[in-house]
Amino acid sequence: MNPVLLVTGGGRGIGAAVARLAAAQGWDVALNVVRDMASAQAVAADVRALGRRALAVQADVSDEAAVQALFATVDAELGPLRGLVNNAGVVDVAQRVDEMSLARWQRMFAINVQGTFLCTREALRRMSTQHGGAGGSIVNLSSAAARLGSPGQYVDYAAAKAAIDTFTLGVAREVAQEGVRVNAVRPGIIDTEIHASGGQPDRVQRMAPQVPMQRAGTAEEVAQAVVWLLSDQSSYTTGSVLDVAGGR
Ligand code: NAP
Repeated sequence: MNPVLLVTGGGRGIGAAVARLAAAQGWDVALNVVRDMASAQAVAADVRALGRRALAVQADVSDEAAVQALFATVDAELGPLRGLVNNAGVVDVAQRVDEMSLARWQRMFAINVQGTFLCTREALRRMSTQHGGAGGSIVNLSSAAARLGSPGQYVDYAAAKAAIDTFTLGVAREVAQEGVRVNAVRPGIIDTEIHASGGQPDRVQRMAPQVPMQRAGTAEEVAQAVVWLLSDQSSYTTGSVLDVAGGR
């Protein structure tokens, strides 16, 4: 039986690239999206074409009941979870902090922070040897924004991702003796649809000159780091935050 991986927000961008690369490296893959099930089904088909089992589920990671149902479905359909990638995340339109609404901050933290907390909790309840699990690996998607602050664009997003860095460190140390490793990847500017979703479709081209490597990264380049952290090849790595940002 192949190890089972859940990738949140796996319908496109970095999550889809992780799902495909993980499948190529021997994982059976469950993935969820919040809205676009056609994209999720297409990625699941790619996973199956690689000879692995796949499951596509609709679930909003910021909804506790939906997350519990998602994990229960993975348990029932694919079996014990060994990997989790907390990838689902959103940005918002570019604004200064003195323009931002409470509703914006609540959405930003509900999806990017609480979504990761909820999925991590459910994964630990299954993976930790304290709970009778067989261990596993959790990888969180942070962002270079956590150390850059994103002034004038989305300081709230940057702060939410900084919370992910600290959460990664704390959980990693908390469960280090329970067979579970927890790490984060901090991508820089990656060419995905997230920028258009924040009203800046040209952001990748505009920002590329600020990157020491003078280009945006690809979702596949981020996936390489994520899948390494999932794998036993990173067996002594926990509580780490790995920058994949072209030197930025
Ligand atoms: P993306 O292309 O916008 O894809 C986001 C995925 O997450 C989609 O499948 C989307 O589903 C899903 N999603 C959104 N909200 C969700 C929710 N509430 N519950 C469940 N799924 C949800 O994003 P990306 O660029 O690949 O980014 C992936 C992660 O990397 C995010 O955490 C992001 O913050 C981080 N990151 C990205 C960059 C970058 O430059 N791209 C840089 C640093 C960090 P639907 O299609 O159904 O909406």
